[in-house]
Amino acid sequence: MSSPSSASGPGAASSAGSPRRVALLGSTGSIGRQAIDVLSADPAFRVVALAAATNVEALAEQARRLRPSAVALADEGAARAARDSGLPAGTEVLSGEDALVELATRDDVDMVVVGTGGIVSLRPIVAALDGGKIVATANKETLVAGGHLVMPRARARAAERRAAAPADPLASPLGWLRPIDSEHSAIWQCLAGEDLATVARLILTASGGPFLDLPIEEFASITPERALRHPTWSMGDKITIDSATLANKGLEVIEAHWLYDSPYEAIDVVIHPQSVVHSAVQFVDGSLKAQLGTPDMRLPIQYALTYPERRPSPAAAPDLVATASLDFRAPDEARFPALRIAREAGPLGPRATAALIAADDVAVARFLYGSLDFQGIPRLLEAAVARFGPSSGPDPDLDELVALDAEVRASLATSPARAGA
Ligand code: MG
Repeated sequence: MSSPSSASGPGAASSAGSPRRVALLGSTGSIGRQAIDVLSADPAFRVVALAAATNVEALAEQARRLRPSAVALADEGAARAARDSGLPAGTEVLSGEDALVELATRDDVDMVVVGTGGIVSLRPIVAALDGGKIVATANKETLVAGGHLVMPRARARAAERRAAAPADPLASPLGWLRPIDSEHSAIWQCLAGEDLATVARLILTASGGPFLDLPIEEFASITPERALRHPTWSMGDKITIDSATLANKGLEVIEAHWLYDSPYEAIDVVIHPQSVVHSAVQFVDGSLKAQLGTPDMRLPIQYALTYPERRPSPAAAPDLVATASLDFRAPDEARFPALRIAREAGPLGPRATAALIAADDVAVARFLYGSLDFQGIPRLLEAAVARFGPSSGPDPDLDELVALDAEVRASLATSPARAGA
């Protein structure tokens, strides 16, 4: 484990002009593939480690192209298949429970980019921060379930750096724990050069998803196929369904609370169907700063990689004249109760938010599989928060969070969640 201030630490690597060495967790998913697009186009980065769950063929293809020093797969069967499919000579193959932690804390890694879903990434992220690695994450569990574990670590790393180099980008907690999500990237970009104490409100925008204007009487007949047709963003299935229920925006409210140290009552959600304004910050003087861009995840991925620098990007800039109008309206929490449920879970604490995000994973899987209707998703979320959320004990540690996640999943995997149940 390298110390944050050691010569091999992230700051040293970038200031010496040598490429920043990146471990990419979840390399074959939507975020992972776009991260590789950005990373392989920029000589300032070198991908040294890749991890995927079970998509052996895609991982092997990436490894042949990028020639990392190590790859990790979920289990030994997948690792064997990867070896058989032809990896570059000298690429180490890891598998099993500790593989992600091993990958994220390697001596030859400066930065860990996380594109995986699920609680599985929390342990490697905590280990990476403890080992003085920069973390850029699109993983929601990192903050929704583990905000109380990761933010103090990012603050500690930043405080160490501040003592040595106050102007260094790593002297800020967001230099260490960098959001990839477009909304949080937008807020982060709006905050550049600003004092957090002058922030009055955070304004998260939401596209509203494909059912923004669908009469509520028709919600019962929403099929997975319809819900997967997102009007503006092209994303993985889970987040596309989360966008249709607005659960995604609820989870992002919780993430914003942790990232920007903002009270829940100072975080607003505004529906913005064009997805051009990615989010905004209101300051104490009434000024509003917003970040605008085309809906292209390569832009926030790149900002997280190159912060605080901006570099040319393959993403097109928005054309304001062609866009013509930008619409905003208040969310309808009666039609999209998942947003309210998440908002209420946040102040209950990490047990409630961990239960919320685990339940959402089960609910979306069941909806896609056909064993839960669209309106059953928020019902499942509400039941999980009510059952697992209230607690007077101390906040859960890493092991307790992982156990809670498993318990919530087991309790909901087969429970009936039809109307009135
Ligand atoms: Mg988002």
